[in-house]
Amino acid sequence: MLTREAVFRQIDADRVIPIQEVVGVLYDNYLRMPVRFRHRGREYDVVELIGAFRESSSPPSTLYLVRVQEGTVFALYLDLTELVEQGGQMFWRGQWVLHFQVEEEEAMLVDLRLKQIADFHGHLCPDLALGYRVSQYALERLTMALMSGVLLRVIVENTTSAVDAIQHMTGCTVGNRRLLVRDWGKHVYTFIYSDSEGLRLSLRPGILPANPEMAELEGKIQAGQATLMETARYQTLLDQRIMFILETPAETLFAACYRPVGWPMDQHAMAFARCEVCDEPVLETHLILQNGRHCCLGCVSGRLPVCAEE
Ligand SMILES: [Zn+2]
Ligand SMILES: [Zn+2]
Repeated sequence: MLTREAVFRQIDADRVIPIQEVVGVLYDNYLRMPVRFRHRGREYDVVELIGAFRESSSPPSTLYLVRVQEGTVFALYLDLTELVEQGGQMFWRGQWVLHFQVEEEEAMLVDLRLKQIADFHGHLCPDLALGYRVSQYALERLTMALMSGVLLRVIVENTTSAVDAIQHMTGCTVGNRRLLVRDWGKHVYTFIYSDSEGLRLSLRPGILPANPEMAELEGKIQAGQATLMETARYQTLLDQRIMFILETPAETLFAACYRPVGWPMDQHAMAFARCEVCDEPVLETHLILQNGRHCCLGCVSGRLPVCAEE
């Protein structure tokens, strides 16, 4: 929820959603403020008057900045349209106008594309930000090459959150077989834009130095021993790192080079065979001959025993 200060900051920066619609208002004469209004079939209960502002004196007009039950802040004003005489007295006649809604603060995610990626991934983290920046940089540099309609393919050399950003940004996914994920623990990305050429982008050494405080807090959090304040502090450090990644020029973050690169031959078959150990269907290209029997990789590794059906 926006603080009072943030409401004014948002309004000053024009971060408002204009509405400008006539609404029905319940005005409390004792409190001298709107306490309820109706907008597009919904009732809104006012829970806080953030301010009442005299906007003009003729006709007298007051703008009310109110917070409703849901936490959203709206601006309402009484639009006085005509002065009428009734029983020898003059009255203003008018209508209530819902002027605008104040946008919720999103200090980190002003970039809509990045917000979509964070929604897909589940949160915004430094690795996701790196994946976002590296694909953005690659797409920029490869604009001309990709105009010919060639399908982009990507090889990533880590299995961090960055992979999700790459998939979202480039459309190259594990599922459509245009993304190859190698678990080499390196922020190195090769964007292949022709049969034999790729743009290799790698994180420059020393650009994201280890932060001892961050590492210590991370350890505590993973061990379930961090206090609320430590957890909050960790978030601040994370935010700082994310902001650094988002604000640093791409060429400062990544070293770039063009290099010859091929795409591994597609060994993907459609036909299924049976593993002679677990009896489960397995792509025939993925069978391995061991001790005279054709086995699946699961049975060969022995790490994933087949469980009995319940
Ligand atoms: Zn993540
Ligand atoms: Zn098997």
